[in-house]
Amino acid sequence: MNLASYSRPNKKIVIAVDGFSSCGKSTFAKMVAAHMGYIFIDTGAMYRAVTLYAIEHDCVERGILNEERLVGELDNIHISFRFNPERGASDIYINDEWVEGKIRTITVSNLVSAVSAIGEVRARLVALQQEMGRDKGVVMDGRDIGTVVFPNAEMKIFMTADPEVRAERRYKELLAKGEEVCREEIVENIRQRDHLDQTRTISPLRKADDAIVLDNGGMTLEEELEWFQERLREVLGA
Ligand code: C5P
Repeated sequence: MNLASYSRPNKKIVIAVDGFSSCGKSTFAKMVAAHMGYIFIDTGAMYRAVTLYAIEHDCVERGILNEERLVGELDNIHISFRFNPERGASDIYINDEWVEGKIRTITVSNLVSAVSAIGEVRARLVALQQEMGRDKGVVMDGRDIGTVVFPNAEMKIFMTADPEVRAERRYKELLAKGEEVCREEIVENIRQRDHLDQTRTISPLRKADDAIVLDNGGMTLEEELEWFQERLREVLGA
C-alpha cells in the first residue's frame, strides 16, 4: 500500500484540533481538511462572532461585558458558515450578515475569553458544533473539541508552541491585514487568553488524555502535513 491510499481513508472520522491561542490551529486544520476532503470548522470564529455581537448590541460598557444582557440576547443570534472559494474555507455570518472581516480585531480578542466563559454561550455553541459534525468528515478546531464537543473523536490533536513564537505570528497576520497593532499588546493578549481559557470553570482548555501533542514551533506546513499523515496511519492502524 502506498502513502496516498491510506492517507485518505474511506471511513469518515472526526478530527479534533485543540490548543493554545495563535498556535496556527486554523491553518493546520484547514490544510488537513483540504487533504482529507473534509469540512473545516473554526469554533473560535463562533465565540468571536458572539463577542462581536455583544460589542455591537450594547452588551459591553467601558470594556466590561454585561453577561446578563448578552445571555438575554442569545435567542437573537443565529450563526452560520458559507463556503468562500477564494479563501478555501467557510466565512462566518451572524443573522445573515457577513462578519468574517470583523471578528479578528484586538478589541474582539480582548473580550472573547470573557464571552466564552459564559455557560449559556458554551451550551449553545457546543450544541451547534455537535450538529455540524454529526455526519463526521470534519476537522474542528478550538479549545474543548476533544474533551467536550467530540470526546469520542477518532483523532485528537493538541497544538502548542512558545508564546513568543505565537505572538510574532499573530502580529504579522494583523499587520498584513493593515491593522495598527502593538507587539506588546498582542503578547499580553495571548498570555491573558491562555490564562483565562485554562482556568475558566466550564470546559477549560486542557489536553484530552488521548490527544497527540503537536509542538509546531519550528515546523513548516509541509512538515506539519507529514506529521499528520504519519499520525493518521497510526490512528487508523494502517
Ligand atoms: O481560536 P481563537 O483564538 O480564534 O479563539 C478565540 C477564543 O474563543 C479563545 O481564546 C477562547 O476563549 C474561545 N474558544 C473557546 N472554545 C473553543 C474555541 C474558542 O472557548 N472551542
